[in-house]
Amino acid sequence: MSLPRASSATRGSEETQGARGERGALVNMELLGLPNIGNTCFLNAILQCLLVLPSFLKKILHQEQLWSSSPFSNLLRCLSDVYRSSLPDSGANQASKADLMWKVKYSLSGYDLKYLGDTQQDAHELLVNMLCQLKEEGMILKTLGVSYTCPVSQLEFQLVSVRTCTSCGRESSTREDYNHLSLDFSPERTLQSSLALTFKGEKVEFKCEGCKGLHATKVELFHTLPLVLVLHLKRFGGPGGLEKLEAPLLFPSELRLSTLCGDMVPHLHSASPQALTNLAPSIQGSIPQTLTSQVSSPAGEAKDSTLCCSDSNDQEPEKVLLTASVKQQPVKSVNGYYQLTGVVSHLGGSANSGHYISDILHASGNWFCCNDSQVSMSNEATVLRTRARSAYMLFYMFRYCLLSPSIFLCCYICVRFLSPYRAREREAPAHRA
Ligand SMILES: [Zn+2]
Repeated sequence: MSLPRASSATRGSEETQGARGERGALVNMELLGLPNIGNTCFLNAILQCLLVLPSFLKKILHQEQLWSSSPFSNLLRCLSDVYRSSLPDSGANQASKADLMWKVKYSLSGYDLKYLGDTQQDAHELLVNMLCQLKEEGMILKTLGVSYTCPVSQLEFQLVSVRTCTSCGRESSTREDYNHLSLDFSPERTLQSSLALTFKGEKVEFKCEGCKGLHATKVELFHTLPLVLVLHLKRFGGPGGLEKLEAPLLFPSELRLSTLCGDMVPHLHSASPQALTNLAPSIQGSIPQTLTSQVSSPAGEAKDSTLCCSDSNDQEPEKVLLTASVKQQPVKSVNGYYQLTGVVSHLGGSANSGHYISDILHASGNWFCCNDSQVSMSNEATVLRTRARSAYMLFYMFRYCLLSPSIFLCCYICVRFLSPYRAREREAPAHRA
């Protein structure tokens, strides 16, 4: 099956040379591009969204000495090389990048041979396979005795599923590990309502150990939160899963999950209790204090915290049966939100044909539209408006809200009315023109 690529307009050279970021840094847009070496837009779009995630990238680059000692760290090496080729002083060009992309394809074929061919593949399936491959490379490192944290831990979280017997009210819970969520389209066609639909309570069959009842209500909630939340929108369905749903689905630039967390404080999944007391400066800023307080809770709850934190590394996904002693610290809301950093869009009428592109929020603070090697400047409003009908995968990064509204108000009053500069201004209005 050879899939036709949608035509992409050739852009002027001035657009692909460079852009001044909001923070003043010059971004070489040409180096952000990835050449299409034969229906590889699905791979380019996923790589461009993954490699713009600071926490994911840091986990790879900061541990290079550890993973480079293993000959089996093929994908880690490829991701590191592709990222470095995008830096302004890399000396890379489209030809050297094409060589790199062949290495990525070859590396992926170690997990699934289909990636060696030149047929178009599904971007969601590719991401899932890449994450599995990275976990496997991490498992090999662990068998070699290397103390290593897999970058996939940045995307991991746990959902807790609570079943309540409809006859006697007895509760039983299980936890399950995830590294992304797949969402159905809600009738309201918004991301928030689609998330709510996924977490909506439902009646299920259930064997109650208390009263031998056979029915229960099931509710799912976030038990831990990911640093990076990846959402897959189920646009393909129908016979053979090839029909595409082109209805718009509105998604926000800032996403809050507090309504899906129940009456508890979920902590970030990749933060172990030990790590929270000895945080690397780069990560510390993103750990919510309200969330860390959960980890240092009383002794009776410490075991539970350890259980759900310590599996953030390289264990296989598994369900964990909860005991009745699990208690969460009640709060009103999670003190943080998720910032949109990447969108993978599918352009075209069905899964059989089409073209993938990505929009990424670069470290410079600029949005770029990446169409394989063609990169152009964009902005958040354009991304939100134009990708509602084509967005297929969304990448959100956790951001901690440093100031609560009441503290923010106090700071504002101090700066606005009580600062010495303002006092001097009030005393000497005549100096103003
Ligand atoms: Zn019962």
